[in-house]
Amino acid sequence: VSTLLLTVTVLTTCLFALATQDGAKKFDYQSDVARLRKIVINSLYSHRDVFLRELISNANDALEKLRLTSLTDPEVLHGAEQMNITLRAYKDEDGSSRLVITDTGIGMSPEELTANLGTLAKSGTTEFLAKAESTDTTGTGNLIGAFGLGFYSSFLVSDRVYVASLAAPSSANPNPIQHVFSSSADESTFEVYPDPRGNSLGRGTEITLVLRDDALEYMDTTKIMDLVNKHSSFATSFPVYLFTQR
Ligand code: ADP
Ligand code: MG
Repeated sequence: VSTLLLTVTVLTTCLFALATQDGAKKFDYQSDVARLRKIVINSLYSHRDVFLRELISNANDALEKLRLTSLTDPEVLHGAEQMNITLRAYKDEDGSSRLVITDTGIGMSPEELTANLGTLAKSGTTEFLAKAESTDTTGTGNLIGAFGLGFYSSFLVSDRVYVASLAAPSSANPNPIQHVFSSSADESTFEVYPDPRGNSLGRGTEITLVLRDDALEYMDTTKIMDLVNKHSSFATSFPVYLFTQR
């Protein structure tokens, strides 16, 4: 059972922006990813609510992984015991409207950010892509219901996505460093670089969606709460907190 709390808060201004730093590594998306992103961006306008369900489901998976890992390796919880999901909508200093989904789950190393978000591991993806590319928009909607779009559904509502992640400490990686995966909807590349804010997360993953002008409805906390209740209340066993800017 999930708890959804509405908390009104004033967000403190961040000293450092998330934007690309010197020394960022640039990568090309795997070709299937480029194709999938194109479909997402161009033809799924009427199904875009699904992005929130996908991101909450990923957050839940990351928390489940952490919980399982902690049974044999309690060290992974070091420094941050809590397991939850947080949603925040705020207007950035640069004027952009942002929706941020944060979990205190297992997190990702820079190598995992690159591998998990830059390539498609799913079997059947190529087949799905071929079908989706040859179908009209309505048909594509049905395909999505059956297939699930995962992380790339972020691009249904955003021009740019930042994924900051700090992996849980492990024996293989005892001192993890928080990294950012940054990708814009209109480029076929993504970047990975150390987070200029340092290890600000404690542990886990923070997805920052820079919302498009036609997706500003997702700044509305009532709308967000409705979506979570409708699509995700049974999809996660961890508490979901919703913050808003005053
Ligand atoms: P799926 O969830 O079906 O594997 P996604 O596109 O939703 O596909 O996510 C791709 C991968 O990225 C996940 O399998 C996971 O390894 C990683 N990932 C995505 N979101 C998170 C997150 N919040 N925390 C940790 N890993 C994540
Ligand atoms: Mg997923």
